[in-house]
Amino acid sequence: MRVLSKMFRSSFKSWEVLQRQAGQFASTLAREDLISISHSEDHNDGVIMVWYWGEPESCPQCAYNLKGNESGRCPECGTSI
Ligand SMILES: [Zn+2]
Repeated sequence: MRVLSKMFRSSFKSWEVLQRQAGQFASTLAREDLISISHSEDHNDGVIMVWYWGEPESCPQCAYNLKGNESGRCPECGTSI
């Protein structure tokens, strides 16, 4: 388990759309896995971050697909997950 985050960025969308997308994603998480939802704005670009506990889908080092991997180590580069 690691702290993961999913980013929702606006560009052309409105805050309402971002909030709905973030809310929809957060709703797919188990209640105890959701840590928090934060937001910020940068040059008229809105960003919403959903922070949650989970298993990463890909290696942060080499992007190898880790779906179903339970060894705690990337089989491709050896990075501990
Ligand atoms: Zn790797």
